[in-house]
Amino acid sequence: MSPEFALIARYFERPTPGALLGVGDDAALILPAAPSELALSTDMLVEGTHFLPGTDAADLGHKALAVNLSDLAAMGARARFALLALAMPQVSDTWLAGFSGAFLALAAKHGVELIGGDTTRGPLNICVSVVGEVPPGAALRRSGARAGDEVWVSGTLGDAALGLAVARDGLVLEPAYKQHCLARLNRPQPRLELGLALRGLASSAIDVSDGLVADLGHIAERSGLGACLRWESLPLSAALQALPDQGLRQRLALAGGDDYELCFTATPRAAGPIEALGLRLGLRLTRVGSMVEGQGVGVESAGQPLVVLQGGYDHFA
Ligand code: ADP
Ligand code: MG
Repeated sequence: MSPEFALIARYFERPTPGALLGVGDDAALILPAAPSELALSTDMLVEGTHFLPGTDAADLGHKALAVNLSDLAAMGARARFALLALAMPQVSDTWLAGFSGAFLALAAKHGVELIGGDTTRGPLNICVSVVGEVPPGAALRRSGARAGDEVWVSGTLGDAALGLAVARDGLVLEPAYKQHCLARLNRPQPRLELGLALRGLASSAIDVSDGLVADLGHIAERSGLGACLRWESLPLSAALQALPDQGLRQRLALAGGDDYELCFTATPRAAGPIEALGLRLGLRLTRVGSMVEGQGVGVESAGQPLVVLQGGYDHFA
């Protein structure tokens, strides 16, 4: 076997009982559960742009898949399969073992099978594609919000951005807060169970990858509406709450990326079932604002408009 195929067999080829054909042929073959729509998404992680050089291999393996699964969660899709295109400068067994171990562990946790990919030499670049299934018409779209709907978010906001400030800029935090924020940055948890349960409950959804204001802005734009957020309602972790700088806290929570929580909208009548869902999943679900006629995302604090800070991260801005 050539070294390339030996590498693929060792690190990436695993049983794929859910597929007709997995790794090893020119293409994988799958048979979707009928009747269902296929949800397809792809996301790339580029060294220097999406992660710092020297980032731990296992963290990268986890995150490369997690950010893709997060997109399926935001669609309310059941995650089924993944493809992995990997360019790396050299073959390191330690690196590959760490990377594939964490990638496949997260895949197994969510019942996802790695059914193919591509492996090549080059600057470190990781591109994952995912396949999910959703019953016809049931996907959660960005365009479904209605005026008067309430805006919800899962988990807490700004932790990953605070983790980045620690990792990249040397910001000093208490050890427990530091650990929490670095885990949020490096090991995001795709909210797949939540996405599935929001089918029929939420009117629209998106995952928070670029910051709440920017991502809610996408829902607003696609739905032809505006949105209003209440600063005092935003769910903040103890680590964020402990920051003395209120401006920094607001920037992180409103515009910090990489949290991979879900932001979704729902009619006020759905509030009871959504609260019950949060209890069942053991996941904080918080009402943070509402959809209104108009456009753009406004933030108010104590009834006064808050100056909206810089938007989310835009690679081409
Ligand atoms: P081809 O030349 O036909 O594209 P490759 O030599 O690139 O085939 O890959 C051989 C097999 O290994 C294919 O089934 C491909 O999907 C799979 N594969 C390659 N790289 C990876 C990877 N990183 N993870 C999972 N499967 C991979
Ligand atoms: Mg190939």
